[in-house]
Amino acid sequence: MGVATVSANIHPGAASFVTKKGKILINNKWSDAASGKTFATYDPATGEVLAHVAEGDKADIDRAVAAARKAFEPNSPWRKMTASERGRLIWKFADLLEQNTEEFATLEAMDNGKPLTVARAADVPLAVDILRYMAGWATKIEGNTIPISVPYAPGAKFFVYTRREPIGVVGQIIPWNFPLLMAAWKLAPALATGCTVVLKPAEQTPLSALRLGELVVEAGFPEGVVNIVPGFGETAGAALTAHPDVDKIAFTGSTEVGKLILHAAAGNLKKVSLELGGKSPNVIFSDADQKGAIQGAASAIFFNQGQCCCAGSRLYIEKSIFDNVVEGISDQAKKIKVGPGLDPSTQMGPLVSEEQLNRVCGYLESGFSEGATAAAGGKKHGDKGYFVEPTVLVNTNPKMKVVQEEIFGPVVTATPFTDVEDVVKQGNDNIYGLAAGIWTKDISKAHRMAELLGAGTVWINCYNIFDAAMPFGGYKQSGWGREMGHDALDLYLQKKSVCTML
Ligand code: NAP
Ligand code: MG
Repeated sequence: MGVATVSANIHPGAASFVTKKGKILINNKWSDAASGKTFATYDPATGEVLAHVAEGDKADIDRAVAAARKAFEPNSPWRKMTASERGRLIWKFADLLEQNTEEFATLEAMDNGKPLTVARAADVPLAVDILRYMAGWATKIEGNTIPISVPYAPGAKFFVYTRREPIGVVGQIIPWNFPLLMAAWKLAPALATGCTVVLKPAEQTPLSALRLGELVVEAGFPEGVVNIVPGFGETAGAALTAHPDVDKIAFTGSTEVGKLILHAAAGNLKKVSLELGGKSPNVIFSDADQKGAIQGAASAIFFNQGQCCCAGSRLYIEKSIFDNVVEGISDQAKKIKVGPGLDPSTQMGPLVSEEQLNRVCGYLESGFSEGATAAAGGKKHGDKGYFVEPTVLVNTNPKMKVVQEEIFGPVVTATPFTDVEDVVKQGNDNIYGLAAGIWTKDISKAHRMAELLGAGTVWINCYNIFDAAMPFGGYKQSGWGREMGHDALDLYLQKKSVCTML
């Protein structure tokens, strides 16, 4: 594992963006927080302050929700817009984002710490893609006609049809692991269906969402359609979730906060969709292409510094190949070049924050104290920034915290299994059910496993493959609802039956 040094020329747009104070976007205008307060966002590679951002709280959320409500009124420019116009506007928004790929990739690398090369190849293009995919859906939101036969109205004739209407004012709360992409996953279906939005980015990574807000204005969305309020979860986030005039909350983040959101939403019974944590099993059978499986399993956990809700963090390896595979993955882990996200040669960046660093190191200590050992990594890396070594833990048992709980860092546990029955039992022994991986050449075993594992996404002989058209979401405590694909439209629509007596 080498240490990279920053030698990249920082994109001038991103470099200048971080020198300005980040503000709140309401009604297409930028303003300070009502309180005048700001908070700092940090460069995770150094721990130094990167930028200052307005700290929105309840007063700003109230103003943003009022703007979103006004923009949703029946005769507002947004409501009067045709579906085709709405689709074209979203497409234009996607074009603007694509034209600024380098600037957004740089902002993500600076604020979140992820490698610039990854943000450029994955985060930004995937964000553009979901906007385009959902732009296409705007004109395809249809109801149906239903023949009815009413027993207590013999002889009467009815004409019944359904309408699929936007839910209304939507609060969207997103995490820091894919700041731009999570904003796009949330905004795209909400806009395609004609909702209006108040978006709260994560306190650790508000910058790309704020730059995205500039593109909202540039694209020409009517005022109040997209409002962006940076701030803290406990204040701005909680105010948005509890707000009586918000019709729906879409949340991505921890299962713990997801439960708080449910309670807060009970006041006006707003609709809730949740994309929460995971502890995904990744299963390698002895008949798999071992080289491919080793590479795939390493990237399943180490991609994005392990800060993926669907990370393949529990590796199950068939007994006969256990030692070989552990050695292979450990070799990969040791070769990963850890360094600042802006360095073009960096393969793994720092964790997002000091809090995450401490959390992950705390899990490592807990694992070691219960008897786990590290086949690779196992500690903090360097003395500056929030780096952790890519880590492979062995000698674990199913009850350990490192096997049961979401670590959200570059730490995988490797456990042997004997057969399908054993690995299905172990794989499903968890409160989460977001994703799973299966590596085998036996096609019928693969699909039997796919049915038996309780997970919203199952990858066979691949991992971390995402597409705007493929639904994503959780079984069990990994969440409610599916993002992406046409399923995501349902999160922002409600159905009305219209019944006419002829
Ligand atoms: P988190 O607290 O769940 O944060 C996610 C979002 O919710 C942030 O915008 C956060 O604001 C906001 N929030 C926090 N408390 C809130 C509240 N009471 N009401 C409304 N919104 C609230 O996640 P975290 O603390 O950043 O990370 C902790 C752990 O969560 C991680 O270690 C990981 O296990 C998990 N996580 C999962 C995902 C995922 O994609 N499923 C993503 C991130 C984290 P603030 O930014 O101000 O806290
Ligand atoms: Mg938090």
